[in-house]
Amino acid sequence: MTLRLHNTLSGTKEDFEPLEEGQVRMYTCGPTVWNYAHVGNLRAFLFYDLVRRHLRVAGYRVTHVMNLTDIDDRILDQAMHAGTTIAEYVAPYVAAFFEDMATLRAERAEHYPRATEHIPEMVDMIATLIENENAYIADGDVYFRIASFPAYGALSHLDRAGLKAGARVATDKYDKESVSDFALWKKPQPADEKLGAVWDAPFGRGRPGWHIECSAMSRRYLGDTLDIHAGGVDLTFPHHENEIAQSEAANHKQFARVWLHSEFLADATGEKMSKSAGGFTTLRDLVGAGHDPLAIRFFLIANAHYRSRMRLSSEALHAAAEQVRRLREFADRVNRTPPAATDDVELAQRIADVRAAYRAALDDDLNLPQGVGFVFDLIREANAALDAGRVGPLNKGSLQAMLDDVDAHVDVIRAQEPGLADEVERLIAEREDARRGRDFAKADRIRDDLRVRGIVLEDSKDGVRWRRVAPSG
Ligand SMILES: [Zn+2]
Repeated sequence: MTLRLHNTLSGTKEDFEPLEEGQVRMYTCGPTVWNYAHVGNLRAFLFYDLVRRHLRVAGYRVTHVMNLTDIDDRILDQAMHAGTTIAEYVAPYVAAFFEDMATLRAERAEHYPRATEHIPEMVDMIATLIENENAYIADGDVYFRIASFPAYGALSHLDRAGLKAGARVATDKYDKESVSDFALWKKPQPADEKLGAVWDAPFGRGRPGWHIECSAMSRRYLGDTLDIHAGGVDLTFPHHENEIAQSEAANHKQFARVWLHSEFLADATGEKMSKSAGGFTTLRDLVGAGHDPLAIRFFLIANAHYRSRMRLSSEALHAAAEQVRRLREFADRVNRTPPAATDDVELAQRIADVRAAYRAALDDDLNLPQGVGFVFDLIREANAALDAGRVGPLNKGSLQAMLDDVDAHVDVIRAQEPGLADEVERLIAEREDARRGRDFAKADRIRDDLRVRGIVLEDSKDGVRWRRVAPSG
């Protein structure tokens, strides 16, 4: 099976092949730590997690780098108002980012370089660009001369006809209408020294622009050419376009072979969620409102294909929670059911087909929603087979293997809170003791406490069983 990925550069799905056999170098644009990440950012970050997980499923070793932008205009502004340095200002948001990633069960990248810790690499690259005449100094700032890079615009399919040679833009974010020479290095503002945001460079003291960070840090950790560069679709222009221009002009090598872009998460009104637009929902907001992090994770990666927009709503999160519950309940049921004496041949074939279809969906540009859909169809059939006592030992093993296939990506099925199963079994034993001692009030209290936590007990001929349901207040 071949992994196919949609490459923004070519606009088509391509067979994926890394430069070095068996090894993937992947760079993904990380958070600007000026505040808590909003759920739209988290969608992109969990998309990166899906890519790295599936690359490993497909047999690759992965070196994944995700940068932290710990200096930009907003950080300087906020730090100034808070009366701190930028390093002090960002520290709690850096910590919050790692907490959010852990809460959402994102695998850790191999490297999380911070911009302020890689200034020499950026200065080096800018010096090369000036030397090559791809960059020039104007008013103490350094700008990239886009007229010197004929391929500028290839990624975002920009019409170069309207480009005005020599026009300059100092801000890091701008739209296609104001495309022009962009800042690589910015001269210090009066407050910047006190904020700890000024560095020496042969072309004058100052601080880096946003775009140069990624070019310099990706080269430092992954070399001149990346196999995969991923980001949110809003980064395509100008950020990724500028990264390509800087890196290829400095290194004279192709910068990234495959560009992957994940779509927006829309808020309830259908608008793109963003902090600057005030539509600001963080993971903390959602968890505070009672949403299970596993449901949020599942919603963000499995509700829609990564190249489709999707809308955040309470209903959608509840639906995701129900899907997670069904997956987990089915896994529990398969584990607990003693196998029938013989296997069901038809069921065995269906499971094999669904496992192959699931893998094919993931290999087809990471179509996790489609893959999960196949699995839910099979769960209905397998539940009927379990009801009828038709699931034999091999059937059971292959159902468990199928769930492992799914969990390699979604990571919500076996994700028990540590020690939960032991604790529930202990409480069940305590309840049995209470019942034997005719302390029915205590037995009922234990059952009710578990129900509030989303665990129901069922008395059966084989003893007491438990399963997960939606928690009740
Ligand atoms: Zn970047």
